[in-house]
Amino acid sequence: MPVLDQQLIPVFDEVVTRNPGENEFHQAVHEVLESLGPVVAKHPEYADGEVIRRLCEPERQIIFRVPWVDDAGKVRLNRGFRVEFNSALGPYKGGLRFHPSVYLGIVKFLGFEQIFKNALTGLSIGGGKGGSDFDPKGRSDAEVMRFCQSFMTELYRHIGEYTDVPAGDIGVGGREIGYLFGQYKRITNRYESGVLTGKGLDWGGSQVRTEATGYGTVYFVNDMLTAVGDSFDGKTAVVSGSGNVAIYAIEKVHQLGGRVIACSDSNGYVVEENGIDLDLLKEVKEVRRGRLVDYAQARGSGAHYSATGSIWSVPCQIALPCATQNELDEADAAALASNGCLVVAEGANMPTTPEAIDVLRAANVRFAPGKAANAGGVATSALEMQQNASRDSWSFEHAEERLEKIMRAIHDRCLETADEYGATGDYVLGANISGFTQVADTMLALGII
Ligand code: GLU
Repeated sequence: MPVLDQQLIPVFDEVVTRNPGENEFHQAVHEVLESLGPVVAKHPEYADGEVIRRLCEPERQIIFRVPWVDDAGKVRLNRGFRVEFNSALGPYKGGLRFHPSVYLGIVKFLGFEQIFKNALTGLSIGGGKGGSDFDPKGRSDAEVMRFCQSFMTELYRHIGEYTDVPAGDIGVGGREIGYLFGQYKRITNRYESGVLTGKGLDWGGSQVRTEATGYGTVYFVNDMLTAVGDSFDGKTAVVSGSGNVAIYAIEKVHQLGGRVIACSDSNGYVVEENGIDLDLLKEVKEVRRGRLVDYAQARGSGAHYSATGSIWSVPCQIALPCATQNELDEADAAALASNGCLVVAEGANMPTTPEAIDVLRAANVRFAPGKAANAGGVATSALEMQQNASRDSWSFEHAEERLEKIMRAIHDRCLETADEYGATGDYVLGANISGFTQVADTMLALGII
């Protein structure tokens, strides 16, 4: 891991002391602080690290009990979280994650990243994140509904279209947003469309929101390729995951002339040299809520399923980690580099370990961090809020055009900032510095808040 600027070491040490055991949060903070050395050197207003200290402390952290009754009549207990991290640029904005691995450290890492990601979109949204250690896997629709209703019965008092606007993340899709919105509406007696994003198209949702994170990531990669006179045409790609982000990343790679030859879930991965069959993948994952092994079985001999080993051992030119945090480690990065990989772009949040990023950097593999590359999801959420506020709904084409433009603006902003700080082509530095300076300058303008 790169060392921190002298002035930032006490800031990081304080974060570790104040937030013991929250390793993912420490990692996310360290990654941003690594980029800020040249910024504190150039700008005396950040020099004592004071605004950076404040930025690392969430404005508000909410933890609550979520009791619910399963189909057998047994009372179950989960923990709910909402970390309202920073509202300098707008209402807190960020998804809810339902996954057994969720604890405060995960929510804080996601919320911290979200601050800078949301700033990069250029839209007026602050940063927040939430979720629960509830595991939706294997639960009936009725159980998921009762859980969501109980979760919202507590969360509703903290959110609102001008306050905090949750959306989906891992384990939270259209079904969950529906149950959450229904309960919010019922408790508050308000049809407040802008309180949640990722809604269904019949009740305030935006075209392209479902596709936006995956599409946006691939648009970003397309801009990275264009910047060096290259394109997706004829390129092979590997996409980890097979959820919402992965599915629409695969779709957009195929639309732009590339071929996705492998994807995965938490049990294994499938390799298909002729390209993943997206219609079947959507049917298995989105309709049947099945596993990748079901997809592989349906595909027969053309697909090779593996329950062991790493998807990153599959040779490819473009690698898109779209599953979860820390899924691509040092050994994986070395395998990708030695197999001739040109670009790694994060569709998930912090999927690449710091050691893996070092390996990719040393091997000159171009790398796009999630807070830039996957910002299309939350950007389209902000477009959904915009449509809700004006009681309008845009066509698919219009929403997609807006997404494409936003991704290009983020891409260019990262490169311009990297140039300004003498780090040409460094998307990590560009994203961190650009997001940071916007939020920090706004905080300074608003007084000691
Ligand atoms: N969970 C997504 C993210 O990581 C989207 C959040 C949103 O749409 O508010 O950015």
